[in-house]
Amino acid sequence: MLTLETMYSMGHEEVVFFQDKSCGLKAIVGIHDTTLGPALGGTRLWPYATEEEALIDVLRLSRGMTYKNAISGLNLGGGKAVIIADPKNKSEALFRSFGRFIESLNGRYITAEDVNTNVEDIEHIFTETNYVTGVAQANGGSGNPSPYTALGVFRGIEASVTKAFGSRSLKGKTIALQGVGSVGFELSKLLAEAGANIVYTDVNENNINRMKEAFPNFKFVAPNEIFSVACDVYTPCALGASINDETIPQLKAKIVCGAANNQLKEDRHGLILKEKGILYAPDYLVNAGGVMNVSIEFEGWADSKSRRMVDTIYEKTLDVFAISEKQNIPVNKAADVMAEKRIEAMKSIKTSYLGKVDHRMPGQKRRF
Ligand code: NAD
Repeated sequence: MLTLETMYSMGHEEVVFFQDKSCGLKAIVGIHDTTLGPALGGTRLWPYATEEEALIDVLRLSRGMTYKNAISGLNLGGGKAVIIADPKNKSEALFRSFGRFIESLNGRYITAEDVNTNVEDIEHIFTETNYVTGVAQANGGSGNPSPYTALGVFRGIEASVTKAFGSRSLKGKTIALQGVGSVGFELSKLLAEAGANIVYTDVNENNINRMKEAFPNFKFVAPNEIFSVACDVYTPCALGASINDETIPQLKAKIVCGAANNQLKEDRHGLILKEKGILYAPDYLVNAGGVMNVSIEFEGWADSKSRRMVDTIYEKTLDVFAISEKQNIPVNKAADVMAEKRIEAMKSIKTSYLGKVDHRMPGQKRRF
């Protein structure tokens, strides 16, 4: 059960429940931290078995967005929304009703696509509120984020290879790719162009066939074989928690770097990777290309601006590796340190007096 104590311990500012009987909407918005700006994170639609499961997910995901947005250098806080529904029951009414609730938050939370929500659904939300990103390019938005997420992961792989092998080149490197969906397929194009060799797996026939057609030279393996492929980089682009007690002993890779969220089943798995000499690129940094891309919508989206921002993932990943080495801490901890440092630094500048007569000093009452 959610209590103020849970929010306190996880650091959430606000958790809002919405329901609309007329269209069957049941949604929760988690606003974790708005130190850096309005909370931005996507809306996940999922047939959660219980309300508690949905709540745990939104608390965890919104907190994750605070770290992702902070480390990415965005002036955005962390938030996320979940809609409890079967994807079969998606409707215009559901998303428009949701959009009206988002509007009522007055911009404290800005939404975007996530699992089971797409550009079409975002368009319905956009009918009711401006506090939404990932809008169709035809309407001035940034459209599908996956190619930008893939580009960010590619930059993360380049940084990891630079660190592990002393050269940025991926020519002749073998990548074991788990999941060839939206991001995995886009990433395959970039890896192929760079001269890498891909061994891949998936469970979806259509996506496997798309890979076979586009890249007949790359090898397919069964889902349970992907961990033990002799390779340079293991690239998880399917589900979370694929780095765990069962899979780590099977890994032959020098590097783990991919798009999936929450790749480490538990924090301690970051330390185990470090002890085994496997370089881990922090998931929430290297998969931030999608959120970087949508953030450009606030200033007028352009492909070139977005790519320039996503390219910074290369340097940022190297910075995190350097902190990990200097402080002798696992890379996942080093990423948290870097994100928390930025949030703390920005908190401190907010207390300095701006010199405006209408500026409210801490503890001062407004006169209107
Ligand atoms: P997607 O659903 O398009 O693709 C995921 C693929 O993984 C599918 O082809 C699916 O069949 C496959 N898969 C599922 N279970 C599998 C298993 N056990 N073994 C092998 N393959 C399996 O999703 P996506 O948009 O490509 O995202 C991939 C991952 O990256 C997700 O974890 C997502 O949360 C994360 N991510 C995506 C974005 C984005 O912009 N799309 C941004 C940040 C993070």
